[in-house]
Amino acid sequence: MSEVHVHRVQPAWKKNALIDNDTYLKWYADSVKNPDKFWGKHGKRIDWFKPFSKVKNTSFDGKVSIKWFEDGETNVSYNCIDRHLKKRGNQTAIIWEGDNPYDDKKITYNELYEHVCRLANVMKKHGVKKGDRVTIYMPMIPEAAYAMLACTRIGAIHSIVFGGFSPDALAGRIDDCKSTFVITADEGLRGGKPIPLKDNTDKAIEIAAKAGTQVEKVVVVRRTGGKAGWVQGRDVWYHDEIATVKADCKPEMMKAEDPLFILYTSGSTGKPKGVLHTTAGYLVYASMTHQYVFDYHDGDIYWCTADVGWVTGHSYIVYGPLANGATTLMFEGVPNYPSQSRFWEVIDKHKVNIFYTAPTALRALMGAGDEPVKKTSRKSLRVLGSVGEPINPEAWQWYFNVVGNGKVPIVDTWWQTETGGILITPLPGATDLKAGSATRPFFGVKPQLVDGEGKVLEGAADGNLCITDSWPGQMRTVYGDHDRFVQTYFSTYKGKYFTGDGCRRDADGYYWITGRVDDVINVSGHRMGTAEVESALVSHDKVSEAAVVGYPHDIKGQGIYSYVTLMKGVEPTEELRKELVAHVRKEIGAIASPDKLQFAPGLPKTRSGKIMRRILRKIAEDDFSTLGDTSTLADPAVVDDLIANRQNKK
Ligand code: ATP
Ligand code: MG
Repeated sequence: MSEVHVHRVQPAWKKNALIDNDTYLKWYADSVKNPDKFWGKHGKRIDWFKPFSKVKNTSFDGKVSIKWFEDGETNVSYNCIDRHLKKRGNQTAIIWEGDNPYDDKKITYNELYEHVCRLANVMKKHGVKKGDRVTIYMPMIPEAAYAMLACTRIGAIHSIVFGGFSPDALAGRIDDCKSTFVITADEGLRGGKPIPLKDNTDKAIEIAAKAGTQVEKVVVVRRTGGKAGWVQGRDVWYHDEIATVKADCKPEMMKAEDPLFILYTSGSTGKPKGVLHTTAGYLVYASMTHQYVFDYHDGDIYWCTADVGWVTGHSYIVYGPLANGATTLMFEGVPNYPSQSRFWEVIDKHKVNIFYTAPTALRALMGAGDEPVKKTSRKSLRVLGSVGEPINPEAWQWYFNVVGNGKVPIVDTWWQTETGGILITPLPGATDLKAGSATRPFFGVKPQLVDGEGKVLEGAADGNLCITDSWPGQMRTVYGDHDRFVQTYFSTYKGKYFTGDGCRRDADGYYWITGRVDDVINVSGHRMGTAEVESALVSHDKVSEAAVVGYPHDIKGQGIYSYVTLMKGVEPTEELRKELVAHVRKEIGAIASPDKLQFAPGLPKTRSGKIMRRILRKIAEDDFSTLGDTSTLADPAVVDDLIANRQNKK
């Protein structure tokens, strides 16, 4: 293992922090010793119409049943809006930053209330009832948040489909949860380019109808005014509809375990799963993690760059921040439009204090050099966050030193669509940081490492990451397929939630996610996470991004095949290839040196920017006739180039 960069908590981080290290240790110990008491107390952070008397009722055995606060009643939109109105009616709830830097607006909590109530009334008017599924296929505009909150207000279950998905992917998700009501926009706008959302919706509705689900109503927000098809009787304009209804709508009484939303996973490893989250536990957990992980203080300007189509957008753009009465920034555009400085310019423009993004964006921006960052101030920043993939130590250091000027803590947050909220993470004023480690579990989270046979590994170890007890934000089932839920998450290691991720715990008890278990490479009996080899490659100053997979090797069992994207302007040469192999050998050791190295102008990624190693594995095996489910691939053309230049041609 190459050198570990440790960054101790700085005095400035501790000064006003909500949690210091002693508090973390005490709270953590309490939370795992007596979850009923701990969550009984923190369950009261949200408002209840009917208080709960039971806290935790969960079992990971047999049929698996997960219930939190089960006899309580509440409403998510009430908690995200109404309860703030007295104190914060005129405070900004949402700052919207458009794709075009001259396009922005602010929405107060009072305004949010009215928008959400009106849309809720529109849905009611068209017959949407508690428990109905509503599909949201929207650009990153405030109406997307209104739509989510309006569903929760009347007890409808939303299913958001990322606006970058194709008609086929949208149709599959509409049909999977039998959703007959869709909210969309005429077009989206990203990086100056329109995205035909309404046209895609029309196509998807045809496909879904053939599969057996007939969409009856489509509410369309006018975003660009671009041309879009229209079906009389089925399609209605958002702006027309909201003018016909009242500006108040009573929030529905929801049981704690009533479904809140369905969200399909990113599809990095195969067919997406319809993850179901329920009302109260999810909100308690999302709001609590938002507050403590980001050390959120009243008045902070908070920005998470995710899309609401991903779970990060659900929990940390909308539900967590709004439940906490925060000001949350919603960004319509992309990191490099109109320039490579966009993120940092937005931070300066809105005086952002807390910034949360993904390694894929950081690696891309790092590839463009320091200049676009350095020309901005970023003085307002107090906390930086990362999520979605392991962050390579090199990218971590760049984030810390260049973006944060060495003064701002980074929270590397590990979690999943399934977990609802962050499970392993540093806390800014409490946790000494190690570049590339997600560090320690959040309150109430009990991680465990096991080997392939399920044997529990103690102390410093490398294994498969499980969680041994429930936390309130946990998914409750796969929508409509509880057997698949039990099979996928609780059958590999009996009585435990298996995350699918590989993980190393060091001597300090810090957790390092090493990649997905399916991606672990076994070279001559040595198990290696993909993250480690990739990080070694990325630490070379000519490399911008790397992906590593195993392929069958006669002598070693598995060989290491690496795909490398170079920094802007660097020529791929034979000499450089040798230099990179030697570099990995120096950083990790001979055992990890790549057997094959392919220069790749682009890597296959999901729409959320994650590398799809299963496709790379197929190409490395020279077996690309069946690439599996590629419906979540962002840019299929990348794959053709990789196949054409493969190094293992038979
Ligand atoms: P699918 O489950 O459909 O294959 P997915 O796993 O990519 O897709 P998500 O729920 O969006 O869907 O992603 C969760 C996964 O992302 C985690 O299991 C982990 O592999 C990775 N991940 C998220 N955050 C981190 C992090 N901070 N460090 C390392 N890995 C992370
Ligand atoms: Mg997953």
